[in-house]
Amino acid sequence: MAKGLRWGRTWTVLAVLAALTLPLCVGCSQKNTKMETSIFAMDTVMDLTFYGVDPEAALKGVQEELVAGLYSLEEKLSTTKETSELYALNEQGQASLSPETAELLTQALELCALTHGALDITAYPAVRAWGFTTGSYRVPDQAELEQLAAGIDYTQLEVDEQEGTARIPQGMAVDLGAVTKGYAGDRLAQQLEQVNITSALLDLGQSTIRVVGSKPDGSPWRIAVQDPAGEGYLGVIELTDLAVGTSGGYQRFFEQDGETYWHILDPDTAAPARSGLTSVTVVGPSGLVCDGLSTALFVMGLEEGAQFWRSHPELEVELLFVTEDRTLYITPGMEEMFSLGQGYEDREVQVLQ
Ligand code: AMP
Ligand code: MG
Repeated sequence: MAKGLRWGRTWTVLAVLAALTLPLCVGCSQKNTKMETSIFAMDTVMDLTFYGVDPEAALKGVQEELVAGLYSLEEKLSTTKETSELYALNEQGQASLSPETAELLTQALELCALTHGALDITAYPAVRAWGFTTGSYRVPDQAELEQLAAGIDYTQLEVDEQEGTARIPQGMAVDLGAVTKGYAGDRLAQQLEQVNITSALLDLGQSTIRVVGSKPDGSPWRIAVQDPAGEGYLGVIELTDLAVGTSGGYQRFFEQDGETYWHILDPDTAAPARSGLTSVTVVGPSGLVCDGLSTALFVMGLEEGAQFWRSHPELEVELLFVTEDRTLYITPGMEEMFSLGQGYEDREVQVLQ
């Protein structure tokens, strides 16, 4: 009996020791592996980085699925690929849609309505007329601009998400360039979360970023904000599990006769939006909203944009506006995340209320 008791105690002690040490040892062997890839999709370079504890072959499989997901989105949403769903809609005035495209079009239309048409996904004929799709730039004359502006009207686009169909009147065309990268970031983040990957930096190009969780060491991700009027970085935003979208005239533009023309158009005039802003950065939980809003707020300008932010707390977005006089206007939540970059410490920063 006494011997059995002693052995019983010994086993108990061993079992407790094993229980204590086992998770630690598993932890020891669970080294974070960094996976990194760079691809060209949606007309831009995308850098995808994530960290995982699974065997490298499994992580490689995850990486391949992310890339395949991006290419498949591009296949559906390109305005120039003849096989895409949007191409069919623009050419034939109607198209069958995959659930993904129907969902994105529906959500984009909601943002168009929310921003009272500052975001208008039917601006495509005007984008094309300025040459932003081909690089063969030109400045349309006033009569042409008026005609183009009259044809921009997202309310004419009908999307039936249940049926998976869309219709648009003859002569009009849709372009999701203002929202696709943000939406793509959301999709990638969902894919990663489904396989329990909790640390990723997804740079979808042209300042559209989605971070998943924090850095592997637990600290927040640091995202640089470009100076719209120079080469440097205005500052850094520290964030966890959020999306970032920046729109600015400096991202795509051409010059003619001393005048600069950029790719963000005011749907009211069909001409580059001149609202006194040089860039707008939006941070929030939805990449689609951040991307769409950065474009819309650039069109609205500071006063209207700040008012929009006050009226829509449900969007949970934080903003950073940069004006032509180089002043920064930031919302209080952004102030907590943002710090000025090296060489920009004396830049004037106004906090919006
Ligand atoms: P972003 O770089 O996200 O601001 O999006 C700009 C792109 O969206 C342009 O290259 C155009 O293809 C398209 N676009 C330009 N102006 C508008 C607008 N007001 N509403 C919706 N899309 C626009
Ligand atoms: Mg955008």
